[in-house]
Amino acid sequence: MKKIILSLCVIAGMVSCDNQYESNKNQIDKMETKDINDVHSYAQFDQAYTTHLFLDLVADFDKKTLTGVAAHTIQNNNASEIVFDIKDLNIDKIITNDEGKEVKFEIGAEDKILGKPLTVQITPKTTRVEIYYSTNPTSEAVQWLSPQQTADKTDPFLFTQGEAILTRSWIPIQDSPGNKITYSARFKVPDSLTAVMSAKTTSHKNGEFEFEMNQPIPCYLIALAIGKLEYKSLGARSGVYAEPSMMEACYNEFSDLEKMIDAAEGLYGPYAWEQYDVIVLPPSFPFGGMENPRLTFATPTIIAGDKSLTSLIAHELAHSWSGNLATNATWDDFWLNEGFTVYFEGRIIEELYGKDYADMLSILSYNGLLAELEDLPAQDTRLKLDLEGRSPDDGMSAIAYDKGCFMLMMIEENIGREKFDQFLNSYFDHFKFKNLNTEEFLAYINEKLPEVKKLNLEEWIYKPGLPSNCPKIVSAKFDKVDANFESKIYLENPRSTNDWTTHEWLRFIGKIDTSWSITDFEQADKLFDFTNSGNSEIAAAWFEKSIRADYKIVYPQLEAFLVKVGRRKFLTPLYRAMKETGNIETARNIYAKARPNYHFVSTNTMDALLK
Ligand SMILES: [Zn+2]
Repeated sequence: MKKIILSLCVIAGMVSCDNQYESNKNQIDKMETKDINDVHSYAQFDQAYTTHLFLDLVADFDKKTLTGVAAHTIQNNNASEIVFDIKDLNIDKIITNDEGKEVKFEIGAEDKILGKPLTVQITPKTTRVEIYYSTNPTSEAVQWLSPQQTADKTDPFLFTQGEAILTRSWIPIQDSPGNKITYSARFKVPDSLTAVMSAKTTSHKNGEFEFEMNQPIPCYLIALAIGKLEYKSLGARSGVYAEPSMMEACYNEFSDLEKMIDAAEGLYGPYAWEQYDVIVLPPSFPFGGMENPRLTFATPTIIAGDKSLTSLIAHELAHSWSGNLATNATWDDFWLNEGFTVYFEGRIIEELYGKDYADMLSILSYNGLLAELEDLPAQDTRLKLDLEGRSPDDGMSAIAYDKGCFMLMMIEENIGREKFDQFLNSYFDHFKFKNLNTEEFLAYINEKLPEVKKLNLEEWIYKPGLPSNCPKIVSAKFDKVDANFESKIYLENPRSTNDWTTHEWLRFIGKIDTSWSITDFEQADKLFDFTNSGNSEIAAAWFEKSIRADYKIVYPQLEAFLVKVGRRKFLTPLYRAMKETGNIETARNIYAKARPNYHFVSTNTMDALLK
């Protein structure tokens, strides 16, 4: 492990990270927010934009609503109006500080993807706009869970998911990643429940919670969860929130968290957000994890019992630099968030578990990337996307994640790790608390590392497909799996697989093709019981192969899995496999039972797939 660079906060002792932010503030104030041109927001940043948001909301679990006020402190460029994004919100009244009374506002026509523009009349003197509103139970960002949908089944649960453009469905806001704001919040929740946010909890008593986020963040990172939660510390600056019955398993699974933070700091500089906690949500959470600052939101499907799926936590932690510090200016530049993060995740994993382990992950990603390159329309296989008129969700493919990562690996391979690490350190430092687009990235890297000019970065970024200089990763561990699989050694000697990790099993299952008979499936199940695997990655990979081979034995477990788990990464390939093998009616029947457990992010994709 490399030498650990202590965070500035630790070195300075009494100096908090808020002050660290203050010292950067002049730099941040130079951000050209007024120049933001984001096709996924109605906001007119050249007129007026939010710099700080204060939320004061009551969470009503019976009505499934959040009600209260969103107060925006604004930078006003002599404007007569300010425009916010809203979707499925009820706007009650709006008060500005200079008028001291209700002001006129107008709500424009609805766009299915973007929602509606909320235009508020202001004067050049307005510095604060208070929007009184409530959400609807159908808000796309907020998922209200009944006690039955939680692990403990005793209390209801709520969580929000803002990325990409869902924050506007629970907060009236200028919903673009290009504008970074600070926020504070006050929530009233039922007495027995705990509220947590992507912010520091500054006070809590009798169901009233207060929060502060003093570092500027893009608003898709504003996040809230409310439930019966316990907290357990994992180290000096890390810990885990979970439902009581899940706590022990979560605590054990994440015991390497502090080491991960140390490894990440050793690579790319101080962790900027003081505290790093993880909250394990109920299974309906649509993503593997969401990198909400200070508090990663995670799916329970990564609790495998052997830490084998915690690379996901390395990924979310890496976002504390790539994405949360240096943020994509628009969703067309999404690869800047995810490509860097997958690369960084691999480096953390390599520090903690060795190169062999990281290489296996890279090869699994590479194979996933090849599959998506075949599926996607050519224009969507360019790193720089063009999502105008479409949902930013369309850009959440392996292209941003894995093609982005492989381009960075290619640069490293060509210029050397030491030099590339120096570059990345200066990159994160230069763009911290700012946003950038792809063109700014290109300008920056061409200036700092002129030797990349011969590496065809433009081809990677603006052309479809995978350029010929993509690195080739080899893995001796996977070669062994391949040999075992092909000569069927595992049948005579199942113990030859004893030291395999999840990645080796995924490689094994990935090799199953149409030559496999039902007998082959039965034999493998008899030896390894894949159908009943408690490891969600292994189970999902096995189910997909089984559906395609018409190995019907898996269906009861498949159905139970789909009804319980709402993680889109698993749902899409499984429902698609059923659809493509003539089992769409079965898929629809399972989906009818499962749909109430899924978040909008997942139902939106599955509705389209199974329509
Ligand atoms: Zn990510």
